[in-house]
Amino acid sequence: MRNQTARKPARMLGTASWGSLALAAALSASAAWQAGSEREGFSSASLLPVPQQAVPVASPAPRPRPEPVRAAAPAPPVEVRIFSEGELRRGETLALALDRQDVSAQLVNEIATALRPVFDFRYARAGDRYRLAQDEQGRIVEFEYRRSEWERYTLARQGDALVAERIEPELQIEQARVAGMISTNLYDAVEALGESGELTHDFAEIFAWDVDFSRSVRPGDEFHILYERRYLKNPQGSRRYVGAGRILAARYASVLGDEHSAVYFEHAKGRGGYYRADGSAVERQFLQAPLTYRRISSSYTTSRVHPITGRRTPHLGIDYAAASGTPVWAVGNGRVTFRGWLGGLGRTVKIRHENGYESWYGHLSRFPKLSVGQSVRQKQVIGYVGSSGLSTGPHLHFLLKKNGRHVNPSRMHAAAAAPISGQQKQQFATVRDGLLQALDPNALRIVTNEAL
Ligand SMILES: [Zn+2]
Repeated sequence: MRNQTARKPARMLGTASWGSLALAAALSASAAWQAGSEREGFSSASLLPVPQQAVPVASPAPRPRPEPVRAAAPAPPVEVRIFSEGELRRGETLALALDRQDVSAQLVNEIATALRPVFDFRYARAGDRYRLAQDEQGRIVEFEYRRSEWERYTLARQGDALVAERIEPELQIEQARVAGMISTNLYDAVEALGESGELTHDFAEIFAWDVDFSRSVRPGDEFHILYERRYLKNPQGSRRYVGAGRILAARYASVLGDEHSAVYFEHAKGRGGYYRADGSAVERQFLQAPLTYRRISSSYTTSRVHPITGRRTPHLGIDYAAASGTPVWAVGNGRVTFRGWLGGLGRTVKIRHENGYESWYGHLSRFPKLSVGQSVRQKQVIGYVGSSGLSTGPHLHFLLKKNGRHVNPSRMHAAAAAPISGQQKQQFATVRDGLLQALDPNALRIVTNEAL
């Protein structure tokens, strides 16, 4: 889905865009950077020594240099910079990528910690590019992490501190609308209108709880999308379209008659989500917990000492302490994908839900009448608390995966959006009516506050 040309390395390269690294011998380094990057799958130019005869560059830096400017010293000291640069491969972390370049784990940690206020490396992905500049002692001088033309993060040394910054180019954002009728599938229809697969993907995500776009789309289905188009302004004054931004409003109307609309609403500063016209969140909520429990005996963590094996392992689920025999409920509607013994988890049930989610329930004492493939409703009893498998006492080990990857169930509950609250209803109604009007100016439908 993310196969746009914008992600090809060659287009991200221009030396000018790396100009913020105004360092001695930057020229030789960037030449190597470009040479190296012409190969596909790129990884190159690690640990480039800087020529000793390098003259200090008259700083063309667009932002202040960390070091004080030397006032015409007769013999300026030579600044040595060691560059490591490259691109994250599929499935690779920044730590692994830098390790390939012999950068120590301690430095990687220093980078990640310093950048945390502006960027969390857990969201790093293949194709992201980085460039590290170190001095002779191996200290970090500058670091740049680039996710796209409009998303860059930098670190710059200021004395003992590394200062993190998000570099945002001047983006012009305009609202635009696409609407169409599907003849084959949603991707083709949106693409035919000149937009990328990314927009289709975002659209499908909004309605993922209501419509299965891979199966239930029919020719004649209609879609409307109101979204932001982002343009990158370059210094010459011209601008270039760099891609779709946020979807502001969306509607999907099936030929069979069912229709779904959603609008984006910021319920808190910088935090928003998608809501139906009646103010309910498009995401369907799972139960807060799959049982009535006494306490959480172990929460989701990526590192803890296992009570039985004594090894430090991640605990990628929640342990709910409860009396043996306590009924366990399905957290949401779904289909049973597993019922049986599963190693250390003992008697286990797995349920597949919409939107790529799967919930697991372990250490059960017994099952009700339940078979694989059977569909279950939210809060239906799917087992009883026990201590089967590797367990110190009766508890439920509950975990949640999305597209095969562990997610923190407690965070998921927080993320599953609550409906628009009472005091925000008026504000929501105003935003909603404006967006729906812009989405489809010809719509006869009039949305009133009564819908709330
Ligand atoms: Zn557990």
